[in-house]
Amino acid sequence: MKSCLNRVTQMSHFSSCSPEAWRSCSRITGERPLVTHGPGGFTGEMTMISGRRSLVRGRVTEPGEFLELSAESLRSLVAKDAELSEIFMRAFILRRLELIRTGQGNVILMGSRHSANALRLREFLTRNEHPYTYIDLDTDKTSQELLDRFDVKLDEIPVVICSARSVLRNPSIQELAECLGLNSAIDETQVRDLIIVGAGPSGLAAAVYAASEGLDVLVIETATPGGQAGSSSKIENYLGFPTGVSGQELAARAIAQSEKFGAKMMVAHSVARLDCEKRPYKVVLDNGNRLPACAVIIATGAQYNKPRIANLEFVVNTHFHWDHYQGNEAYPSSWPAGVEIISSEATRTSIEQRGIPRVKHEIMTMPAQIEQLKVDLQKASTPEQRDSIQKNIFEAETYLTELKSMQITLPTMTFDRNLILHRKSRTVEILWLGRAHTDGDVFAFLPKEKVLVTGDALHGWTPYMGDSCPYDWIKTLDVAEKLDFDYVIAGHGDVMRGKETFELWKQYFRDLLEQTAAPYADGATLDQAKNRVSDYLISKYATKFDPKFSQSVGSNVIKACQVIAFAP
Ligand SMILES: Cc1cc2nc3c(=O)[nH]c(=O)nc-3n(C[C@H](O)[C@H](O)[C@H](O)COP(=O)(O)OP(=O)(O)OC[C@H]3O[C@@H](n4cnc5c(N)ncnc54)[C@H](O)[C@@H]3O)c2cc1C
Repeated sequence: MKSCLNRVTQMSHFSSCSPEAWRSCSRITGERPLVTHGPGGFTGEMTMISGRRSLVRGRVTEPGEFLELSAESLRSLVAKDAELSEIFMRAFILRRLELIRTGQGNVILMGSRHSANALRLREFLTRNEHPYTYIDLDTDKTSQELLDRFDVKLDEIPVVICSARSVLRNPSIQELAECLGLNSAIDETQVRDLIIVGAGPSGLAAAVYAASEGLDVLVIETATPGGQAGSSSKIENYLGFPTGVSGQELAARAIAQSEKFGAKMMVAHSVARLDCEKRPYKVVLDNGNRLPACAVIIATGAQYNKPRIANLEFVVNTHFHWDHYQGNEAYPSSWPAGVEIISSEATRTSIEQRGIPRVKHEIMTMPAQIEQLKVDLQKASTPEQRDSIQKNIFEAETYLTELKSMQITLPTMTFDRNLILHRKSRTVEILWLGRAHTDGDVFAFLPKEKVLVTGDALHGWTPYMGDSCPYDWIKTLDVAEKLDFDYVIAGHGDVMRGKETFELWKQYFRDLLEQTAAPYADGATLDQAKNRVSDYLISKYATKFDPKFSQSVGSNVIKACQVIAFAP
């Protein structure tokens, strides 16, 4: 076919031509070849299954014979033939992952890391698994040139260029979805067997089961599929994932699975109400459109009330941990009038002397680790190994991008012992009561409301003891317990009433130290001490801490050994 020369596009393409032909073709068209398929190959990626607009285009430059399958026939083939289904689904998913990894898509997003709207759009594209190229206007040297070229004013950022055709200025996710045609293949007049409202884990599970039974299913989602779970970095307790799974990956797998069985996904639209006067029922969208359905499942999850804090004045960093301070950067940009970030002086010092160097170290060392993973990928001998390494590469690259864009924000107000904020409405005492989980833990105490905030010095899970001072910790909890409070807001777990957990933790530390001291005195090895003490602690405390206690107790025994070995 010679028609390739008269098209001009910036989109990437699947091609079916010789490298030489490609070079001359792409010089003229601006197209970027992604892959060349030869005899026996097949084109396509996830849009073949989802029915959405294609992201890439195939171009034929040598005569030959092709078997053309419509998306509908392909889906029916995938549903009927398990062997072909495995081959196609694996290839389509991996091809989509590769497009995402290399940013080869039909979207360019220009934004600033300080812009909440840019973040929202990035999240929308990422969670919809839509590949895009991101240009960070804060760091990109050509940013002014780009803005001038598209005649963009500062208040119009973020800007999205879709399919090299439309320029969207500070668009809503609905506008972006429309421009990308994410919902364009959905026939809103069709009477569906089932409409599911909400694409969290429940909605997606319902879609998989209903579609796999042959029902005609449409899922409608306000924002992006995945729901609350989509924002979780690791979910450990979902059935079938013994090593855990990220929320994003869980959602991506569920979407691919539901679409494989023919379920359709409408995103960036809310269901405003249902009209159940007569059958078929009508599901009424936020834009007034009415979609008919024989049955409706509402899987809209939970909505959380957000505190309406017009003027946030203070944020307290209760302690240092490697990544905890990384959230500080969110506050000054959200409350530009000025937020003081308070910590003990010891915590600020730890951030400066341990946290920041570690971020810098990771920025320097991660590229080599990623390169090594890529070498490992070439050597991988099974599809499972490839999948696992590819996932690791994706996660490492995403993390590295985050690290590079991080604006480290240090506490702005520090103190050594106590800091008391006297306000007309309330008094807040921020107290350093001694070393505990770290050397700089602080408690926030509201005497009038009788509330104590403990950070990680006390919480509802198993204590993490990596940086702790266990003997001091017992004394510090003793002092804290004497404050006059009814409620404890802890770093993890539910709000607690009363002082029971203080007693539990103190006794646990005493037992841990005493039990570890005995094998240490007998000259036992570290492994012997770990096994002996862990068994004792598990039998006494397994039901009192969280279900993972028996896995984490060993590291506490090792910590106790170190403390005892170096005790004066
Ligand atoms: C950060 C984080 C970590 C978590 N970690 C774990 C964990 O490790 N283990 C665990 O078991 N649980 C975890 N959870 C909880 C778990 O994610 C939820 O229990 C689960 O997501 C609930 O699923 P769902 O489908 O019922 O609801 P949701 O996940 O809330 O999904 C509901 C969906 O419906 C959409 N929706 C709402 N209203 C409308 C409307 N009118 N029209 C269209 N769409 C609508 C929403 O946008 C949302 O996507 C975590 C939650 C969060 C936030």
